[in-house]
Amino acid sequence: AAQPAQPVKAHANIGTIGHVDHGKTTLTAAITKVLQKDGLAKFVSYDAIDRAPEEKARGITINIAHVEYSTEKRHYAHTDCPGHADFIKNMISGTSQMDGAIVVVAATDGQMPQTREHLLLAKQVGVKHLVVFINKADLADKEMIELVEIEMRELLSDFGFDGLATPVIHGSALLALNGDESSFGAPSIRKLLAAIDEYVPTPQRDLSSPFWLPIDSAFTVPGRGTVVTGTIKKGTLKKGDETELLGHGSAIKTVVTDVQVFRKSVPVAQAGDNVGLLLRSIKLPQVQRGMVLVAANSATIGNRYRAQLYLLTRGEGGRSRPIISGYIQQIFSATWNLAVRVDMPSGKDMLMPGDHSDVNLTLLKRMAIEPGQPFTIRENNYNVATGIITERLS
Ligand code: GDP
Ligand code: MG
Repeated sequence: AAQPAQPVKAHANIGTIGHVDHGKTTLTAAITKVLQKDGLAKFVSYDAIDRAPEEKARGITINIAHVEYSTEKRHYAHTDCPGHADFIKNMISGTSQMDGAIVVVAATDGQMPQTREHLLLAKQVGVKHLVVFINKADLADKEMIELVEIEMRELLSDFGFDGLATPVIHGSALLALNGDESSFGAPSIRKLLAAIDEYVPTPQRDLSSPFWLPIDSAFTVPGRGTVVTGTIKKGTLKKGDETELLGHGSAIKTVVTDVQVFRKSVPVAQAGDNVGLLLRSIKLPQVQRGMVLVAANSATIGNRYRAQLYLLTRGEGGRSRPIISGYIQQIFSATWNLAVRVDMPSGKDMLMPGDHSDVNLTLLKRMAIEPGQPFTIRENNYNVATGIITERLS
């Protein structure tokens, strides 16, 4: 007889962040060690993780290890990077978008500059749920660990996370990796995993936000009109809904007169569906690459945005010289490109290759862009910078 199908476990993307030497890689290895013991994962050694292969993502070089494992509840893809610069590049380029992250902080040091820098970036790129692992508990006394916990909760709140609700686990990645079953050993890892299972929600298709469709292509159906296609990013849409075509300085109202999924008319479509939409009274030349179709009056276009920008080094194919405020080049994002001006926030006037910074972007034309959208900047067809939109300014 046929075996009943295994239910597919929900999936989430997570990763370790935190100051160098606080134990991120040891913890990653320890998680797989404990889960292997519990029959849920395959052990990945510290060395295998730390010798992470180079990956080319958005033109930049990132050393990044992808480790996978399962708990009883979920399947996880976990990223760990060997160096601080790799963490920064991974977050700014949106290379592995994390649904949640484990902030590793050593009880012996408490929060350090890179702890703060990673938290700031996590906030800016939209990582909403963090779990704290206070590591090296084997080397610190109880008072010290408690002090570090209090400071971490305050720091999380300062950065706009829920410092009170955030789970904080005390333990020792090294003890767990060495098979120790005392409370700071393997049990602390099981506690950490239970907290992640519980506190980091499984990413869901966003059906409740207003309809948003990035347009992939457009064509004319003779006798019917203009059809746009793409994958719905948010919300739902029904035949007859009022929508707006946004981008390249235009905002054009139109009604969707037919909704098709797999070339069949359907009454309603939702986030995740690949659709073809027939638009009333729209001429093909009005639809341009990079436009979005949204629920009427739910979004507007703008040309000033705040972003986090990483400037590639010469070795990564980037510039050898810094950029200064007023730098003008081409920005590439989703399916469009435009002229852009980059300005440094007050106080800074240049950005060196290999460095990252908050910047203000002014686009030649007003576009509909949401925080979290990644982009690159190119000079003569070479990537010189990668970034992520963090805020709409106007
Ligand atoms: P990362 O830079 O954050 O990835 O830190 P690593 O995982 O490479 O750890 C840095 C050092 O701290 C290594 O020598 C580890 O063996 C050590 N270490 C990690 N976790 C613990 C722990 O829980 N207790 C102790 N005593 N040492 C640890
Ligand atoms: Mg490491």
